Amino acid sequence: MSNIFVTQPYLPPLGDFMPYLEQIWDNKTLTNCGPFHKRLESALCEYLGVPHIALFTNATIALVTALQALRITGEVITTPYSFVATGHSLLWNGIKPVFVDVDPDTLNLDPVKVEAAITPQTTAIMPVHCYGRPCDIEAIQHIADNYNLRVIYDAAHAFGVRQHGQSILTAGDLSVLSFHATKVFNTFEGGAIVCPDVRTKQRIDHLKNFGFVDEVTVVAAGINGKMSEFNAALGLLQLQHIDAAIARRAHIDALYREALAGVPGLRLLAQPADVRTNQSYFPVLVQDDFAISRDELYALLKSHGIHGRRYFYPLISEFPMYRGLPSADPALLPHAKRASSQVICLPIYPDLSDADVLRIVDVIRQAWPQRQVATGVVAAAAATADLLVAA
Ligand SMILES: *Cc1c(COP(=O)(O)O)cnc(C)c1O
Repeated sequence: MSNIFVTQPYLPPLGDFMPYLEQIWDNKTLTNCGPFHKRLESALCEYLGVPHIALFTNATIALVTALQALRITGEVITTPYSFVATGHSLLWNGIKPVFVDVDPDTLNLDPVKVEAAITPQTTAIMPVHCYGRPCDIEAIQHIADNYNLRVIYDAAHAFGVRQHGQSILTAGDLSVLSFHATKVFNTFEGGAIVCPDVRTKQRIDHLKNFGFVDEVTVVAAGINGKMSEFNAALGLLQLQHIDAAIARRAHIDALYREALAGVPGLRLLAQPADVRTNQSYFPVLVQDDFAISRDELYALLKSHGIHGRRYFYPLISEFPMYRGLPSADPALLPHAKRASSQVICLPIYPDLSDADVLRIVDVIRQAWPQRQVATGVVAAAAATADLLVAA
């Protein structure tokens, strides 16, 4: 039986990419903000509905650069429930991360706890739109305005997400996107910073090119974060397929929700109101009253060749370079901790077939003895006993 992974990168037909490669081979411009780089920046601005974009080699360098661009120092309030790059971008800038717990319903930063964590050293907030589901943008901006803080969104999951008909990528001061192979929109590797105005974009463009303004002027200790022409050309082609890819993800999301309905002990995150999501992930929270533990379900799926991922376990605050921080104390992060111990992200990607989705749900249902799922009446103790018999 073939393996199914949590995601499989979307790729356009190879033949369609050839004309792009021929252009690169003809003009010999491989990087340094060439024609494809410029075209992708404007195409993305139009598609996403944002004013300016600076393309990057990946989102991690983009996060590091976004913090540099706004000269962030001291302490930054952020979420422990994310991919490590969120925290690492702070450490690379010599900034102290201050972890704050998430809202148990959305798994995004809880604004009330953000406000409580502000100190005189706080200069910014770095929230994450976890699984592409919007943070409480208004509450966060309100706090930032009151305390004169900057907001840099790690929007790595949030490509194309709109709320009330408007892109969420213009929230805060800057938003950072990832175009990594595992993300909804990929350029093999890549990333971008959404910028509010030309001056900010110009500053960021200098920073991603060693700080060069012209041949003889260097205005900052910049990095090399430029996206290559190869990646930018691929992005232009990928953009032609993105709406179909997201529509297919939405279909799979709906299929999972329908097929998993009535399976006791699993929690799915509610669909946020008035949001065009991108279905970048399909997280399932395995609660205490499910037939088996989260890790047993993870292993059961794996034994069937189905490779879910425990995003985000461990928490960022549990890794060695963070766990000594006062804010990393798990007692202060109960909701993040619980989600981290319950979550499995199930496979979701455009080429996943309906049959495979149903097969995955079948394996999950196998964790429960059949008749109990059928009646929907479950006593946890009895279920555990049955399971031991079944095993
Ligand atoms: C993927 C991801 C990143 C890093 O993106 P790269 O493009 O791989 O550097 C950062 N933050 C979050 C939340 C991510 O999921």
